[in-house]
Amino acid sequence: MSEEKIKDAGIYALGAAYNGTKIVSVLEGTIPIIDMGFLHSDVCYDVVSVWQGSFFRLDDHMNRFEKSYQGLGLTSLPKTKQEMRQILIDMVAISQLRNSYVFMCATRGIPDIEDPKNFEKYQNQFYAFNCDFVWVVEPELHSTGVDAIISSVPRIPKECVDPTIKNHHWGDLVRADIEAHKKGAFTAFLLDSNGYLTEGVGFNVWIYRNGELKTPDDGCLLGITRQTVFELAKEMNIPARACKITADEVRGADEVFMSTTAGGIMPVRKVDDAVLSDGKAGPVSMKIHKAFWDAHSRPEYLTPVNYD
Ligand code: PLP
Repeated sequence: MSEEKIKDAGIYALGAAYNGTKIVSVLEGTIPIIDMGFLHSDVCYDVVSVWQGSFFRLDDHMNRFEKSYQGLGLTSLPKTKQEMRQILIDMVAISQLRNSYVFMCATRGIPDIEDPKNFEKYQNQFYAFNCDFVWVVEPELHSTGVDAIISSVPRIPKECVDPTIKNHHWGDLVRADIEAHKKGAFTAFLLDSNGYLTEGVGFNVWIYRNGELKTPDDGCLLGITRQTVFELAKEMNIPARACKITADEVRGADEVFMSTTAGGIMPVRKVDDAVLSDGKAGPVSMKIHKAFWDAHSRPEYLTPVNYD
């Protein structure tokens, strides 16, 4: 957006932020530099989307967020889950954005300089922001598919960082992304230390093989989009299950796609040197893609925002 447009649309044109005390413009949203969320990645987060004026599966995201902050032992957040949910709705209403990426995080907070190891003493914090809808893969590329690699960087072991707690330990994902870009691919999938597929750079991975959809059962975030794919596949009578998947199975799949809140269903046309589904998005991937966007008009998934 040009600077002039930003001026015309007001201070919230790029989105709003909750800085721990009040809602401000996203450009003014700051966190204290000594918050342990920033210093030690002692933070969990979640991302929910707003599409055509409604949140998609807001309560599922809030419930996963709750599991994440409870999993980190963040028990002194200043807001209840219900209050945090309302802050997200208020931010989106203030920003007037109809399609939006909405981020929330819970951090350990600021240490007591005299007693930094006393975790009981921390006042945990909640911050959030929203901005225009984010596409991990631009929509124009959904029907062509994108190229992926299986990275040489293994996913951080789940024994070190629990991937079901949505976290900021992105060092492995970023290294894998850089490797993909150096090799001319769009993105990367990571394996665990036993060679099984985990997830990718901000998304879950699916393969379609022998008439069945498969996604990893372990070592990955339990994506809300992943959950939606399971629900939609069931309705469409496409067998789908979570299980172990090897790198060779990914390269030998009939189709591969990725799923995430930031962009939905994203087909893949090539993994390493293996060309999939004739070098374009596969038909089953596109069927799920369509069902996913159609689901954005189902009331049971939606929380409409009142923009007045
Ligand atoms: N895996 C990782 C590492 C992610 O960061 C994300 C989303 O950001 C996902 C999977 C997909 O999760 P969801 O569908 O809930 O957005």
